[in-house]
Amino acid sequence: MNELYHLFLRTEREQQLQQRAWELSEQFRTRAAQHDEQATFPFDNFADLKEAGFLSLTVPKEYGGEGISLYEFLLVQETIAQGDGATSLSLGWHLGIIMNLAEQQKWPRAVFEGICKEIVEDQILLNSAHSEAATGSPARGGKPETTAEKKNGRWRISGRKTFTSLAPALDYFIVSATIKETGEVGNFLVPKTAPGLRIAETWNTLGMRGTRSDDLILDEVEVEEEALVEFIHASKAKGQAQGWLLHIPACYLGIAMAARNEAIEFAKTYEPNSLSHPIAEVPEVRRKIAQIDLELMTARHFMYAVADQWDRDPAKRPEMKEELAAVKYVATNTAVHVVDLAMRIVGGQSLFTSNPLQRYYRDVRAGLYNPPADDITLSILANRALREK
Ligand SMILES: Cc1cc2nc3c(=O)[nH]c(=O)nc-3n(C[C@H](O)[C@H](O)[C@H](O)COP(=O)(O)OP(=O)(O)OC[C@H]3O[C@@H](n4cnc5c(N)ncnc54)[C@H](O)[C@@H]3O)c2cc1C
Repeated sequence: MNELYHLFLRTEREQQLQQRAWELSEQFRTRAAQHDEQATFPFDNFADLKEAGFLSLTVPKEYGGEGISLYEFLLVQETIAQGDGATSLSLGWHLGIIMNLAEQQKWPRAVFEGICKEIVEDQILLNSAHSEAATGSPARGGKPETTAEKKNGRWRISGRKTFTSLAPALDYFIVSATIKETGEVGNFLVPKTAPGLRIAETWNTLGMRGTRSDDLILDEVEVEEEALVEFIHASKAKGQAQGWLLHIPACYLGIAMAARNEAIEFAKTYEPNSLSHPIAEVPEVRRKIAQIDLELMTARHFMYAVADQWDRDPAKRPEMKEELAAVKYVATNTAVHVVDLAMRIVGGQSLFTSNPLQRYYRDVRAGLYNPPADDITLSILANRALREK
């Protein structure tokens, strides 16, 4: 653990949780290069997470989980990301969706309770399959081309989803589809065992390779009537404040912290024969290190302050959409810049595939395409400012 955590761990419970995450993260660090190189899903990391009971961290206490707060969730995500960014982002989707469902209570109670039970007892995994080639980011309100049709009291779903993180490891997919008869959009809970469902291994990307965000193909997949768990109203969804999405900035800041630590370690130990001391004493290197810490402090204090407000003041949550989006904007852009600075400190060594910095460099790029995109954030900030009297 490093001193970057001291100010953020406020209680014994937070300390213990972060310590548990840190031990897992150290283990994941040893496997990260291999999963990245081979673009394999980190099943071994998820076996450890399951063993440690991490898949039920956000399940409400009344259903047997740990019911962690948003603040605590971010501590976990940021810490895991220091060992392996792809594992953190993947875990974040699963934990965040459960946190959001518990808060919004939009699913039928019995269905949500059943899923929670399966998570607690069997450590099952779920994630949303919302993105499609024609919609781009679902946050923009595009309508799914995947369709659902009712036949003899059962739903028949057909379509193709892109960017389905954790695809080979999921037990349930939450699939958005347009209902043919009415034109409404709904979310359907589809088990991995449903006939007609398959994964196309399309995920060969620059970064976040271990997330295996493959395509999901639904070829007349039949599910029971109750699989329709909620209706999605695009205009309402667009205006909603979703605290759980802060798992994204937490993940990318964790990767940036790993890059920072790598660069500092290098600066302390690298002593070229043109100097009589390590490069840590070179003023320009010191300036870059300070710049990294300034940027990380700004982004992390902002993120944790917003999460703390979210936890403490539920009545204000509907007004926090702009703050949440701004945290994501600041964190992901900070992560890109911090990794860049860290690589400049290390120099040419950072280019070698044996050096983790090149992985951090590629992984943080993905953050720019997770929701909300920067242009959406800037647009909602301008809208709010111009609405003000
Ligand atoms: C690592 C990773 C994991 C992911 N995991 C998941 C997952 O588990 N489940 C899931 O459903 N999705 C997931 N996503 C998908 C993500 O949420 C986006 O849907 C995806 O990145 C596509 O966004 P895009 O930027 O390519 O598309 P677009 O939103 O189409 O943007 C592409 C370009 O077009 C412009 N553009 C498009 N439409 C508009 C518009 N209406 N107005 C203005 N400009 C527009 C944008 O500004 C941008 O320049 C993941 C993405 C990544 C990178």
